[in-house]
Amino acid sequence: MQKEYTVGIDLGGTNTACAIVDRSGKIVDSDSFPTASASIEQWADRLAGSVVKMAEACGISDQIIGIGVGAPCANATTGCIEAATDLPWPSPIPLAGLLESRFALPVTVTNDANAAAIGERTYGAAKDVDNFIVLTLGTGVGSGVVCDGHLLSGTRGFAGELGHVTFPFASGRLCGCGRYGCLQTVASGKGIVNTAVEMLRSSDRDSILRKVNPSALDPKIIEQAAMKGDPLACRVYEFTGECLGRAAAEFAAFTDPELIILYGGVAKAGELLLSPMRRAFDNAALHLYAGRVRFITSTLPEAEAALLGAASLPYCNK
Ligand SMILES: [Zn+2]
Repeated sequence: MQKEYTVGIDLGGTNTACAIVDRSGKIVDSDSFPTASASIEQWADRLAGSVVKMAEACGISDQIIGIGVGAPCANATTGCIEAATDLPWPSPIPLAGLLESRFALPVTVTNDANAAAIGERTYGAAKDVDNFIVLTLGTGVGSGVVCDGHLLSGTRGFAGELGHVTFPFASGRLCGCGRYGCLQTVASGKGIVNTAVEMLRSSDRDSILRKVNPSALDPKIIEQAAMKGDPLACRVYEFTGECLGRAAAEFAAFTDPELIILYGGVAKAGELLLSPMRRAFDNAALHLYAGRVRFITSTLPEAEAALLGAASLPYCNK
């Protein structure tokens, strides 16, 4: 019997990653290239060229059964990207149609955080878990919510934008969406930098971060300082973890999750975030949930949850 393969595509604001994946979740070949291009058509041509080349090199051109894409603000119902602020082209983008015309294969589209959730459910830490939430902590904060074994989608495919739920602990911060107090303003990479800048300004506590020009501060530098035990950098992560835990305590009331997975660049801080998050969750959550939710970081290799999730989308439609 011939083997079946799918193509997974992770369209990000900076980079596009694509991979040919077999049924077991093994990446057979992969490629990535800068997303920036003069038009979405040029981007689609560049992508098609890359996928065709990989498929020919692997000798499996006639065994690909479908294509899955994870992209920001992607509407799973229409296959379009709607109002994505970090992509270089005007919205809406008819992504599924553009790719179907180039590949003559079924194309399934979902937003990048949902793709990460599907990746965790199909190949990662949520394999046997019916109720969980993936929070993607990167440039922004996204989320994929799986409840009773189903990915929550909603009327327009935008259910579970938990990064844009507002909280009093972030009330003074303006979000990119134009509102104040979104979780994203504290739990994204930019949010962590802003917290560090605020703490550096409001105290005279000694810190190795004071040697860094504030405009050059990034989450990696703050994380490294915290790993070395710098008290101010540690406090930044404690605050961020506390905010995530208090937010998760509210989210738990909606879907009663068993597991919450942190994914993305900021999540690499691991226990620096997870310890205060667990503590804050157990203090803040209703007694029905307190002490009953596991918090972990993604166990899939770096950046693969979204790619593998996208690659498994064609199977979800079968
Ligand atoms: Zn927002």
